[in-house]
Amino acid sequence: MPCKIINNSGLEISGFEEMIQSLVSFSQERFGFEKPPTLFLNSDSNNATNLLGKTAYYDPQEREIHIYTTDRHPKDIMRSISHELVHHKQNDEGNLQGDHYSGEGYAQKDPHMRKMEEEAYLQGNMCFRDWEDGYKQKQQVYNEWRTNTMSLKEWKNKELFGLLSEKWGFAKNVITEGDKPDFLDLDKDGDKEEPMKDAAAEVDEESEEESEESIRESRFRKVIRKQIREIIKNGK
Ligand SMILES: [Zn+2]
Repeated sequence: MPCKIINNSGLEISGFEEMIQSLVSFSQERFGFEKPPTLFLNSDSNNATNLLGKTAYYDPQEREIHIYTTDRHPKDIMRSISHELVHHKQNDEGNLQGDHYSGEGYAQKDPHMRKMEEEAYLQGNMCFRDWEDGYKQKQQVYNEWRTNTMSLKEWKNKELFGLLSEKWGFAKNVITEGDKPDFLDLDKDGDKEEPMKDAAAEVDEESEEESEESIRESRFRKVIRKQIREIIKNGK
C-alpha cells in the first residue's frame, strides 16, 4: 500500500516521490508495521535558518510523519523519513503509549523515550543505508540490462569506435560526432580519399579482438584480399 504524501512544501517531488514510496515499503517490510503513516512535507523558512531547527516529528495519535524540507538535501530528508518510520513502528507496537514525557528534552529526561530515540537513530539510519545500497544496485542491474538489450548495431558501432580510439589514439572524449573528419586514413593503407566509414568497416572486418602485434598482419591480409578481389574482378 503506498504511503499518502501531502506535499505542502512547494518542493517539486516528481521523481523523488517514487524513491520515498520505495523507502516506505522497504521499511514496512523490515519493521512490519501494518499501514504506512501519512507523510506531510512542510516548508518553514524561519525554521530552516535556525541551526538547530526542527527537521521532523511523528504524531502518534494521527499516525502522521511531518518533515520540514526547506533547504535540505533530498538524502537528508529521506534519512529523516526513515527515522520517523521507526517511531511509527514503535507506535504500532504500543511503545509510545503510556505516561511518557514527550516535551523538550525528552531524549534526556525520560529513560523509556531515550531508548525509543536510540532505536530510531540506529534502526532508522541502518534501514536507510540498506535501502539506499539496494536501490543503487537495482539501478545498476537496470543499467546493465539496458546495455545488454542495446541493439547489436549500436553495440558494434560503440565497440568499433572504442577499438579505433584505442588503436589510433583518438580519445573518446575528444572526438564528437561533429568533429569527426570525413576523410582520414584510418586503416593506414595510404588511401586518404577513402571515406572514414569505409576505412572503419574494413578495420572492423579484420581487427576485432586483435592485439597490437597482429595489426600489421591484418593489414597484410587486407592487401592480399584486395588483390584477390581484383583478380576475380578482372577474370570476369
Ligand atoms: Zn526521534
